[in-house]
Amino acid sequence: MRELCRLARQGYETRNKRETFGFLYGNIVNETGPAGRAPLRRLVVRHARYYRGGTKTRYRVTLDEREMLRRRRGLARELHQRFLGSFHSHVEVAGFVSRGISADDRASFRADREALVETLVSVWAGRRKTLRPTPKTIVAWEPETGYHYRIRAYVRQNGGVRRIRVRVIRSGVVIVY
Ligand SMILES: [Zn+2]
Repeated sequence: MRELCRLARQGYETRNKRETFGFLYGNIVNETGPAGRAPLRRLVVRHARYYRGGTKTRYRVTLDEREMLRRRRGLARELHQRFLGSFHSHVEVAGFVSRGISADDRASFRADREALVETLVSVWAGRRKTLRPTPKTIVAWEPETGYHYRIRAYVRQNGGVRRIRVRVIRSGVVIVY
């Protein structure tokens, strides 16, 4: 959680601003669901790793796919954790920050069969106002910088891409339902 915000902030503070991009690692926990319902699958996100490659601008991240996959798989071996999905940020530009994932984001997530979750961190500066967290949104406000952060997670479900529930537990680990 802290790392996602830190990386989003770093991109936001870069001259001309830019998005961040990286990989999430952790494990999958299968639990028995309520009687008569399908079993629950939870993703437990334990690590967020920045990806140095590619080109990041304020509206876009462009990647060399082969090089990205090589790095992504290498990190999974190093961490002894499963690759769960990617994260990227949307940065506020001239008072506007795009709220959800874009059509391009959806398309690249759909095409990436190894990714179970796509995570978006939005970052913008503003006066403090209480953003209400919802089951599908994590919100944070940083007093030192005045930045707001909003984290959302998406999965493929019933042939579409849907936002799902996320929760931060005390250690900073993010659980995706
Ligand atoms: Zn995006």
